[in-house]
Amino acid sequence: MIFRVFEKKELKNLFEILAAHNKIVGPVEAGRDKHGEPVYAFSEVSDFNALRLGYTATKLPAKRYFLPFQENLSTYTVEDGEWQKSIDYNVSGPLIFFGLHSCDINALNKLDKVLLHSIYPMPYYAAKRKNMFIIGTDCAPQPFCFCRSMSSDTALHGFDMFITDLGTKYFVEILTDTAYNFLKHIRTEEPKEKDHILYMKTVSARNKKFTAQVDTTDLAKILDMEFQSDVWKHWGDICLSCGTCSNVCPTCYCYGVEETVDIDLKGAKKTKMLHSCNLIDFAEVAGGHNFRPERHSRLKYRYYHKHRGFVEAFEESLCVGCGRCGESCLAGINVPEVIASVRGGKSK
Ligand code: SF4
Ligand code: SF4
Repeated sequence: MIFRVFEKKELKNLFEILAAHNKIVGPVEAGRDKHGEPVYAFSEVSDFNALRLGYTATKLPAKRYFLPFQENLSTYTVEDGEWQKSIDYNVSGPLIFFGLHSCDINALNKLDKVLLHSIYPMPYYAAKRKNMFIIGTDCAPQPFCFCRSMSSDTALHGFDMFITDLGTKYFVEILTDTAYNFLKHIRTEEPKEKDHILYMKTVSARNKKFTAQVDTTDLAKILDMEFQSDVWKHWGDICLSCGTCSNVCPTCYCYGVEETVDIDLKGAKKTKMLHSCNLIDFAEVAGGHNFRPERHSRLKYRYYHKHRGFVEAFEESLCVGCGRCGESCLAGINVPEVIASVRGGKSK
């Protein structure tokens, strides 16, 4: 890894160089909540002044740019009496993510393990993922973030460059030659000892602001032991089975596939749609049997996939601790409380 520092005004120059030939996606202010606080979202940005790099957290992750909620996998047309298949990976060109937090970068790293590096990679995801340039940026811990418990508060890979705000300048970690070459177009310099000290002080001050925690010690084993615990019934009874937690989660990737045929029988398509294991039909199979008809069994399944099954497969959890699911849940169900109740062996 190479380190540089640059004056803050140079970031606008970098943005404009990148925006000249690429689409840029970054955090913008999408509105205000009922308390008058800004609501942030990832959106295409063409004006540097619209970027909000000091954003807290976005309600939705950047997932729709590499795992769209709905996507055509293939289309079919009849030509000369024969069905012709056409596949489009739905990539419109390189995409630059300008300002992803560490948790969202780590979420991508986890998705890569399943969708890029498994026995059956998903070409639709791979095509988009390989066309991405990522600029990470430091975050301001929120009361609901427990990324530190999930070792996702820093990113060691999965980005091209990562900038940390030091007040009057940015400290930049450079991980790829693409980033190195882009940075040649702006004025940067070698960090001095005082920059290193300021960087470490900045990171240390940020780390003291994390408040929410999840005790992950032996969690996979504890989940095995507590599979029949009545805490699942407690949380299931208040869960609305709305699926919002999966929609806002940067690591939920489960999907369903639907096939439709045009009414004139001259065309058809196969469409993939992200699904949620909390929805009632998620585990319903042909013939109408539902493997998880109760709310608590579906809610439990989501927790076991994140904190038990994925750990067994990849030696890490499928949760980055962004806290979005708890923040969006109308029933107030959140990971720290659910895990604490399981560890305590009783409902809260
Ligand atoms: S846990 Fe919350 S967000 Fe998730 S399905 Fe249940 S009610 Fe909806
Ligand atoms: S499960 Fe919740 S806290 Fe964990 S990554 Fe998904 S949205 Fe974030």
